Amino acid sequence: MEQNRIVRVDMTAKTITEEAAPERYRFLGGRALTAQLLLDETDPRVHPLSREAKLFIAPGLLGGTAVTTSGRTSFGFKSPLTGGTKEANVGGQLGHRLARLGIKAIVVDGASDDGWYRLDIDNEGIRLAKADDLAGRSNYDLHAELVGEAVLTRAAATIGPPGELRLASASVAVTDPEGRPSRHAARGGPGAVMGAKGLKAIVVDDAGAPRIVHGERRDDFRKEVTKFSKVVLEDPRTHNLSRTGTAGVVKFVNRDNVQSMPTRNHRHGTWAYADSISGQAIDELSQERGGKMAPCMAGCIIKCAILFNDANGQHVTSAFEFESIALLGSNLEIGPADAVAELDRMCDDIGLDTIEVGNAIGVAMEAGVLDWGDWEGTKKLLEEIRAGTPLGRIIGNGTEHVARTYGIDRVPVVKGQGLPAWEPRTLKGMGVTYSTSPQGADHTAGMVTARGATTETLIKQSRHEQLVMMAIDSVGVCQFSNALPADMAQFVGHRFDIDWDDETVLKMARTAIDAEREFNRRAGFDREDDRLPRWLLEEALPLPDGPSAFDIPGEELDKVWG
Ligand code: SF4
Repeated sequence: MEQNRIVRVDMTAKTITEEAAPERYRFLGGRALTAQLLLDETDPRVHPLSREAKLFIAPGLLGGTAVTTSGRTSFGFKSPLTGGTKEANVGGQLGHRLARLGIKAIVVDGASDDGWYRLDIDNEGIRLAKADDLAGRSNYDLHAELVGEAVLTRAAATIGPPGELRLASASVAVTDPEGRPSRHAARGGPGAVMGAKGLKAIVVDDAGAPRIVHGERRDDFRKEVTKFSKVVLEDPRTHNLSRTGTAGVVKFVNRDNVQSMPTRNHRHGTWAYADSISGQAIDELSQERGGKMAPCMAGCIIKCAILFNDANGQHVTSAFEFESIALLGSNLEIGPADAVAELDRMCDDIGLDTIEVGNAIGVAMEAGVLDWGDWEGTKKLLEEIRAGTPLGRIIGNGTEHVARTYGIDRVPVVKGQGLPAWEPRTLKGMGVTYSTSPQGADHTAGMVTARGATTETLIKQSRHEQLVMMAIDSVGVCQFSNALPADMAQFVGHRFDIDWDDETVLKMARTAIDAEREFNRRAGFDREDDRLPRWLLEEALPLPDGPSAFDIPGEELDKVWG
């Protein structure tokens, strides 16, 4: 079997073709590959939901290997939310399976004009089949049917009702190791793009797939895997993540001198009831109720995913993460953990980006559509999105859309995408990343949480972290592995029998960022798009040593990419 295949699915003609990946894509994977394919194959001016706008799906360069956390998958597309380049990166069981079946990328083109389809990929071949029976169904039900008992070899990527309705906050749900749809390619609306193609589900089964073929440096590769795993396991950051997941940061970011717990549509940086949604509170409940920490993919030794149970010990949600807890919790003044867990479960089931929908509902609360802290009202709104009512469609189309509908001018977005929890007024390096990333407001584009650093340092750190994250998303490992460019160079070098060093890795990342920026430029973006909304410059947060707003000037931000 060809180990380096690009699979092209034409949803208009209902044809599938395969080709060996061209040499120029050989050492690109994940985000770098989808960014380059998007630039090479999609007119940046097309409507993101048109039949000409392609969807690219790619495992990382290390997908299918034994490197811990290396099974992540990139979904690349023109975003219906930002109007620019987008990559939504997801864990779960999909990436390893695609890689083991020798698939470097799937390119979905065209659009069905005769109902819904599913794409099945296994060792026997690739088939497109009618799937109108799946239409209207939500993710938990879908994954139970499409994956079910075959979870050891099978994974699905599905859209829920918002994807079918092409709403801009629609995600693509990916199966986790328990067979649940808890991992989401969420940011920027990949579910809407998949829905616009008429593709309801992709089901990948790697039973009988050949092992990944390594070259002459196979033993070096194995040694490097063992060494790296040891480093990851001994890292104190791993210990924290394994105990309380990303939710473990709640108490820290809620402190008076950090103020990065978005509250009341980002009006405040601390919430009086944050302890009720903290990682420690969740950990205590988990110990009482039989919850657990788990990997989101086979082979992850960090296991940061919280599997959260209710008081009867019944599963409520998985991957109960800080961003979801903050945007659906404190930002809406909703707690305690049980209440937010139910909202998280609903978003996974319906197929929504928790960050985008948390911001969108925050703006709706600001507009008086419902009260702050209205948990029942929030659940009703999510059900309206599922049902596709007019109000549900407004909320499901994202933060900016809600603001426009209700005449709100204080909008928590950058390049049209909702703000993550990490606060750019107190953690100004995050503001540099949100401003200058081609992805819009995206904390995973480059975390810079240093406080008190000079502007020059923050600019340098943001540039470096954005490059490292591009590399991480391209080799397909998880950011929580804390892989360094030198680690990635070793793995890619041994895997493909080539000589890479950290400079090669960073150069590849820079070329990929340039491809994303070039796509945005051709789509009509300019320097003024690399800015935060004005209210973040005007509304200071009251840190103990004085008020803090985002105050890094535009000409400094322009230095990130030169
Ligand atoms: S560290 Fe967490 S997010 Fe990363 S691969 Fe493991 S479980 Fe998934």
